Amino acid sequence: MGDQESLVAWIRHRFGDKTPVKTEAAAFLWLETPPLPCDYPETAADLHLLAERIGKDAKAVLEEVAGHEPDEVLTLLGAIGRGGAALIGVKAPNPKRRNGRPRAPDEPLSVGFRPHHTPQPLLLRRFFGALPVMRTHVHRADADWVHGRGQDPRTRCLLGATVVIIGCGSVGAPVACALAQAGVGRIVMVDPETLGWPNVSRHPLGAADVGRNKAEALAQRLQIDYPHLTVEHRPCDLHQLIAQDEDLLAATDLIVAATGNWVAESALNRWHVAQGRPRPILYGWTEAHACAGHAVAVGADGGCLQCHIGRTGVPDLTVIDWPEGGDASLEEPACGAHYQPYGPVELAYVTAMIADAAMDCLLDPPAQSFNRVFVASPRRVAALGGRLTEGWRSAFGTVAQGVRTVDRAWTSTACAACGAKRSDEAA
Ligand SMILES: [Zn+2]
Repeated sequence: MGDQESLVAWIRHRFGDKTPVKTEAAAFLWLETPPLPCDYPETAADLHLLAERIGKDAKAVLEEVAGHEPDEVLTLLGAIGRGGAALIGVKAPNPKRRNGRPRAPDEPLSVGFRPHHTPQPLLLRRFFGALPVMRTHVHRADADWVHGRGQDPRTRCLLGATVVIIGCGSVGAPVACALAQAGVGRIVMVDPETLGWPNVSRHPLGAADVGRNKAEALAQRLQIDYPHLTVEHRPCDLHQLIAQDEDLLAATDLIVAATGNWVAESALNRWHVAQGRPRPILYGWTEAHACAGHAVAVGADGGCLQCHIGRTGVPDLTVIDWPEGGDASLEEPACGAHYQPYGPVELAYVTAMIADAAMDCLLDPPAQSFNRVFVASPRRVAALGGRLTEGWRSAFGTVAQGVRTVDRAWTSTACAACGAKRSDEAA
């Protein structure tokens, strides 16, 4: 960041599209070694001398800034210190501001000349005279600093990535927040639904956004909070997205699908298979009460989503059984809509696990599809009236206590979605 365009984008993201933007040139001087406090420039003349010592280019940069006759020449001095790149700011005031008056009558820079016609050497002598400079703190707001304090090489990779998140409900929305905090450069959120009051207890958005489209409200929130990123939204469903925005899907580094809608996600899976699965799609969902959660990353090889999910959307392997019917969704009074109550705390484990799988997909895209499974503690599962399924116990056994995360292969079964496609290729 640093060019005019990205500065304008940053300010508009942070403060709104209509914000007028005015920028001023500043000098950036890079030192071979960090200056000792006794080397810091005291006067404008010291600053000029420092630039001269660094080299011709540094001096030219400083003089060019002064040539615009700003109220002060702002200079950033940078060097690699013990903790990485360090910056200090130095302001050399325009001599017309001496004596603390905003505008002295005699305009010292142009004394003897028409304003802005002072010969350059004389102007520089007047600017870089004996007036003291003011030191100032520099607060970096660039992506490298925000996301890794300039020390994390993964920041570059994530900043260059685009992720499309389909479904901005109680699973997709926290995953989107985690990816923004990790520094994913471009995030596109997709959801046709409006935030309602019952969503609020398990969604990053709250009362202020009730009644708004979930994707739009969350995109706006994240864009303000992370102005160096690009956060977009599409207020539509998955079928519309595939029909209208296929180029976006085809070019994105990762798609995260968290719609909880099997019909929609199986359509996405068929689209993915038809594309040849060049980049991963990560599907995420929870079981009842968020006592278990699944992330399935479909890579170029191994199973497609449908390989281990039946026609009605039931996976081969579920983790928790509810012998007393604890998985039956409760009926909401009045409107008959169904919902499943689960604690926001259990849910946080699941969404962290899915976000973790998303980071793996971005930093080291998987060749083979895999399934990451979260299981709540036995105490929690039992308290809610659940127990581990036979299938889970025979594959992974039981633990005495604590939460658990397991990675397992998601192998190809040459299912109805991917089998024909694969045999076409073989033919
Ligand atoms: Zn398949």
